[in-house]
This record gives sequence, structure tokens and C-alpha cells, in this order.
Amino acid sequence: MKELLFVSGNAHKVSEVNAYLAGVVRVIGLQHVGLQATIEETEDSLAGNARLKAQYAWDRLGVPCFADDTGLEVNALNGAPGVHSARYASAQPDDAANRSKLLREMQHHLDRRAAFHTVICLISEGHHHYFHGRVHGTIGREARGGEGFGYDSLFVPAGSSRTFAEMALDEKNLISHRARALHEIRQFLVGR
Ligand code: IMP
Repeated sequence: MKELLFVSGNAHKVSEVNAYLAGVVRVIGLQHVGLQATIEETEDSLAGNARLKAQYAWDRLGVPCFADDTGLEVNALNGAPGVHSARYASAQPDDAANRSKLLREMQHHLDRRAAFHTVICLISEGHHHYFHGRVHGTIGREARGGEGFGYDSLFVPAGSSRTFAEMALDEKNLISHRARALHEIRQFLVGR
């Protein structure tokens, strides 16, 4: 089976992605190829950052590879925090501070609509391919639930009354932005 490099140093993420693409490709992470894991995300779009990370590996190794980037896009905040989701409250990523800032910014907004958006950039034979996954929902008035990470406890996916943090991981993974983007790349790889 073909190998596909996932440009991530997060072993948990690599195994999650490997499970999604099982039977199609074998996913390996940065550790496997001895590349440094911290790549600065300096672009101003999710697609730009996904491309930058994939390009980093492609330029050094020339093997098929892909990278992802995710942001939470809030309607009332004109799409913020978006590409800045990880560093919304401070220069160093801090999930709790990010959630507090989001609640503060949203305190007077009645329009609570938001979406998680994942973009994947795949580079194969020098060509760039992009895949998107979105899940729409609303931002709650307070944090609820103990599962998950990041903004999960503030995000209520459409059609549910619970936040992502009130769902078991399996349940979230059925509908999540990342799962939808991975579904897209899976379909693409199957068709090749
Ligand atoms: P990354 O692109 O996966 O590094 O995600 C960027 C930021 O978005 C992270 O720091 C998280 O705070 C947030 N984020 C990404 N995915 C999720 C998710 O599935 N649930 C909640 N927050 C997320």
C-alpha cells in the first residue's frame, strides 16, 4: 500500500488520520521521516497555511504529502478568529484563554452562528490539491462539557442541543469538519 506523509508532529492526530484513510494509504507522520515538527503558520488563510506546511515537506523530501489547518469562523465577528484560532487570545496557543476571549467578544451578539472549517492541502507529483470540511453551528453562552479540546465546549453543531465537548469522540468524529475534509481526500485517493 502507498505511503502518504501527513505533515504533523502530533502522533495522536497522525493515528486518527491513519484510521480515516485505512485501506487506501498508509499515513506516516513527521517523526517517521525525521523532519522538524514546528513549522510557523505565517499565511493569512487556512489554505495558505495548509499549503505552507505541505510545501515544507515536499521541498525537502519530494514525497506525496498533505497538511491541514483548522479555524473557527464566527459570523458576528466577520469570520474571526478564523486563521488565528490557535492564537486568538495570546501569542502562545492557550485554549482556555481563547474560549474566554470568544465569550467576551460574543457577549452582546444575538447572532451566534459559526462554523468550524478544515482545509487540507495535498501535494502529489508537484500538484496541489485542496479539500474542505465544514460543520455549521452556534456559539453557546457558556462553556459546556468535558470532552474534546479547543473551542469544543462552546460549539453546538446544527441539529444538536449539545456542544462538541458533551459528545463522545466517536460521535463528534461522525460530523466534524476534520472528518468531512478527510472524507473528501479519501474519495480523491480512492479514485486515483
Ligand atoms: P489546528 O489547525 O488543528 O492546529 O487548529 C487550530 C486551532 O483551532 C486549535 O488551536 C484549536 O483551538 C482549534 N480547533 C481545531 N480543531 C478543533 C476542534 O475539532 N474542536 C475545537 N477546536 C478546534
